[in-house]
Amino acid sequence: MLLQSPLNPEHARVSLQRLNTYNPTDTLAAVEKLLEPLGGISSFVKPGQKVLIKPNLLAGKPPEKAVTTHPEIVRAVIKLAQNAGGNVTLGDSPGIGSPENVARKSGILAVVEETGCDFVPFETSVTINPTGGTFHQFEVAQEILDADVIINLPKLKTHQMMGLTCGVKNMFGAVVGLRKPRLHLQAGTDKSFFALMLLELCEALAPALTIVDAVVGMEGEGPGSGDPVQIGVLLAGSHPQAIDTVATELVGMKSHQVYTQQQAIDTGRPYTQLQQLELHGDPLELLKINNFRPAKITDVNFGLKGGLKHYLRNALTARPEPDHKLCQLCNDCVTHCPPEAMKIADGKLQIDYDRCIRCFCCQELCPHGALITKQGILLRLNSFLHRKS
Ligand code: SF4
Ligand code: SF4
Repeated sequence: MLLQSPLNPEHARVSLQRLNTYNPTDTLAAVEKLLEPLGGISSFVKPGQKVLIKPNLLAGKPPEKAVTTHPEIVRAVIKLAQNAGGNVTLGDSPGIGSPENVARKSGILAVVEETGCDFVPFETSVTINPTGGTFHQFEVAQEILDADVIINLPKLKTHQMMGLTCGVKNMFGAVVGLRKPRLHLQAGTDKSFFALMLLELCEALAPALTIVDAVVGMEGEGPGSGDPVQIGVLLAGSHPQAIDTVATELVGMKSHQVYTQQQAIDTGRPYTQLQQLELHGDPLELLKINNFRPAKITDVNFGLKGGLKHYLRNALTARPEPDHKLCQLCNDCVTHCPPEAMKIADGKLQIDYDRCIRCFCCQELCPHGALITKQGILLRLNSFLHRKS
């Protein structure tokens, strides 16, 4: 099912605003200015409406790690939505850990409490049945369906499986807890299929407004273990696909490096080309950053079978490897690994790389940072030769 087809001028509008600090006053002013070309917050939130803010609450890390949406962005959006008369709640379903704990460690729970907004952890799963697409059933949080208006509040980060996580991927948090790994397994090693699922899920939930925290984003081994990178930008629009098209350009990545983006192009979805969009605010050309470091290649398919596929998979793809000094043998990753490729045996965490689908769920959820990304030998050789040349 396509969200809006053909092009709708309102959905083609994307606003960009430079912001280099999370200072509360500057942040609030920047978010207000960001929304002006879209008609302001009152274009999205009407008095008395139930508003659900969906940040990125991937894991309980402090704001400076850039794993979660920054609390000051959250504060600004809550305030604006409240000022517009909305009855504002905030919720998500983290990969692991209780939503309250993750929200507390990320600094978001304090903001929620200070602003008098309600925190609604996603706990109750209900089935929705979208029509017209490939996926006819999703199990999503009742709490998100209860809202009149969803405001999607992603953090711009690399993603070792999907290339980037931004507007479209952030809505995957609507799937409650352990159902996420199940969907990973359903998609298996086919990243395009997983990307299609993400697109259709996002379309089914149709957030009214997406505001991206790209003030400090993440590069390298995102979404949980990469490095914070100063980008200095906020983006906003009513269509997550349009937002992702601009975000991909902003960090200098190509569509084929972002699986949801490429899948959207391949399936003829709108708002996948800059020429289809109407950009407002600070000029994209002045905001683009250089030398953004994408995640390492993790593709495991190659469209091949047998021994050659096995060889290429190990030679080319990045894979998670336990750091046995850091691993506390807590078993969390073992119980969440979608294809059950992990086990603790002989007092050590072990991974069956023939079963591993390189989804990096384990790395996202490990509370001790005990899963590192190891590149395949050909990739390491390539990096070595580039360093020499
Ligand atoms: S790698 Fe992390 S999540 Fe897995 S058992 Fe070790 S400490 Fe626990
Ligand atoms: S070992 Fe990690 S990366 Fe591999 S399938 Fe399991 S959770 Fe995913």
